[in-house]
Amino acid sequence: MEPNTKRKGEAYLGLDIGGQSIRGFRLEGDGSISARSAKVTPAALGAEAVLGAIASVVAELRAVGPVAVVGVGTPGGVDPEGRIVGEAANIVGWRGVELAAAVSRAADAPARIRNDGNLAAYAEWAARGGASKALLFVGLGTGIGGGFVDGGRILSGVDDKALEIGHIIVHPNGRPCACGRSGCVEAYAAGPSMGRLAVELAPRYDTALSRDARSGASINAREVYAAFARGDELAKEVHAIAAEALSRAIGIALAILAPDTVVLGGGVLVGAKSLVSDVAALAPRYVYEAASEGLRFEGALLGPDAGLLGSALYGASAALSLEELFALSSRVRANLAD
Ligand SMILES: [Zn+2]
Repeated sequence: MEPNTKRKGEAYLGLDIGGQSIRGFRLEGDGSISARSAKVTPAALGAEAVLGAIASVVAELRAVGPVAVVGVGTPGGVDPEGRIVGEAANIVGWRGVELAAAVSRAADAPARIRNDGNLAAYAEWAARGGASKALLFVGLGTGIGGGFVDGGRILSGVDDKALEIGHIIVHPNGRPCACGRSGCVEAYAAGPSMGRLAVELAPRYDTALSRDARSGASINAREVYAAFARGDELAKEVHAIAAEALSRAIGIALAILAPDTVVLGGGVLVGAKSLVSDVAALAPRYVYEAASEGLRFEGALLGPDAGLLGSALYGASAALSLEELFALSSRVRANLAD
């Protein structure tokens, strides 16, 4: 028996809507990616313009053939009807937009919308093919997001806002955060935050990184970790501060969620391999002992396509058994590795 016969010729679209770009790909049932499309997000032009750009991405992907379902990841909150809650992604007038309905019209297929951090967690969970039951994902980039998947179910909370792990306060009265509070982990361990730390601490050091920082060069996590790899003492201190903050936040999450696997991913992790091992050593100090028994800390298996893959696989999960989903996920990973 061929379990996929009835869906032959149909594909799953994955979309990732960010403040900078709208990206999409078309995932065939055999795990191949048959089309990709990307547009700059016209965030300043408002919601109608952004919906227009999304529709043109969908139209390019749909030109190849019919679509079974579309999965969509977007920053911020999403209600159960696929409407945008709040003002995420800096898109003018984005609040209240009926995103599921708009995408569904463009694709002539059902659309499933979720928070992007939750979908990245879903992709990492699916990529492990059943090796993890309960997976906590922490994505370190411009900000810090996350997601938690337990037995294939995404923990959503109200309007998909669960796992805003970046805004766990790890230092009361600490560094200011973009959210308006002080001491959030995002103010220490997101990419730009590490850059700001390096600039502020630079006067205490005489290293290559400190000289760059004092000369006004743009410093982000990438520059910090390039210097870290050369043994730069300032980079080591910034890394230690970030790892400590991250470990405190993850310790809190461990006590509440009881994952078997913690995955660190996002752009900051490129070149920052020691972050995973250092957090693995530190985080258990911030939670009761039994919570870290048998716990694994891992780097993300998926690269920059994690969001797209999470969107497509989450969309597909409505139609597939777990075994079929894991098989599809492993075929895609093999194709992406080629
Ligand atoms: Zn915050």
